[in-house]
Amino acid sequence: MTMSTSPQTEVAPLLRVENLVKKFPIKGGLFGRIVDHVHAVDGVSFELNAGETLGVVGESGCGKSTTGRCVLRLIEPTSGKVWFEGQEMGAMDREGLRALCRQMQIIFQDPYASLNPRMTVGSIIGEALTIHKLASSPSEYDDRVVHLLRTVGLHPDHRRRYPHEFSGGQRQRIGIARALAVSPRLLICDEPVSALDVSIQAQVINLLEDLQAEFGLTYMFIAHDLSVVEHISDRVAVMYLGRIVEIAPARDLYTTPKHPYTEALLSAVPIPDPTVKRQRIVLQGDVPNPIQPPSGCHFHPRCPRASERCKVETPVLREVSPGRQAACHLND
Ligand code: SF4
Repeated sequence: MTMSTSPQTEVAPLLRVENLVKKFPIKGGLFGRIVDHVHAVDGVSFELNAGETLGVVGESGCGKSTTGRCVLRLIEPTSGKVWFEGQEMGAMDREGLRALCRQMQIIFQDPYASLNPRMTVGSIIGEALTIHKLASSPSEYDDRVVHLLRTVGLHPDHRRRYPHEFSGGQRQRIGIARALAVSPRLLICDEPVSALDVSIQAQVINLLEDLQAEFGLTYMFIAHDLSVVEHISDRVAVMYLGRIVEIAPARDLYTTPKHPYTEALLSAVPIPDPTVKRQRIVLQGDVPNPIQPPSGCHFHPRCPRASERCKVETPVLREVSPGRQAACHLND
């Protein structure tokens, strides 16, 4: 987590995302023509400062992972622009994009699925060193792999073993070491602890915080509930059906949410103090079909505070107080 910067020291954001849209075509009929689209990401904009952690939270299918993958160009966005250190990625040639993508890495939810079971851990971590020619000799390669293993809390001897010999938490550490091999500046952490036991989750989050302090890393930390990102995030963006519905400094969002969806997610976060009672807001139904999202405010069929206006008028994400934005008519 970073300390807030004074206005005098403010610099351009490391990452700027503007009006990002991703529609996945649905093909059907005899000739496999496009018959409709899944609106996975629907006009997402945000900025991320160097050294900052932005938590991105929402239910499954809200577009948070697709947003991360579009930023990394693992998925080509339908429209919208992404700037990294002031350079617009869509305007770059292949070589420029390749060099820039080295600075942005991803950590996956299921480290086992993303680790090649036939490769040793040393080869998995060192693969990027070879691809990007980052080691000038076999001994330098080995030194760097050993250093990366130590950095994430693993033993140098682990480089000769295979992924199946490790626990889930250790595999996530291998995934983190692999991401760090190319000295990135931005890590997109795509639900990195969702598949882990709670005690192991804390260890991995602590490791990520230590690495951020040591290397000045910037994180986009994706999770499906607010409790996971509470302590690691400087700011939190809440997504619903492809859109950001609220984005705010973490402390503000957790104490005074400005969107009913954030309120509902927050009501499910356990409070460690047993004397403090929080009323659980149970949302009716599931996230609606992203092929035909509801009219007006996408959240209106499930919102306990919806009015007639919400069914016809789309609320705009706008500033509700300095540094905070929300998309809800209740803030008008
Ligand atoms: Fe609920 Fe209406 Fe606000 Fe949407 S705009 S969150 S439906 S109150």
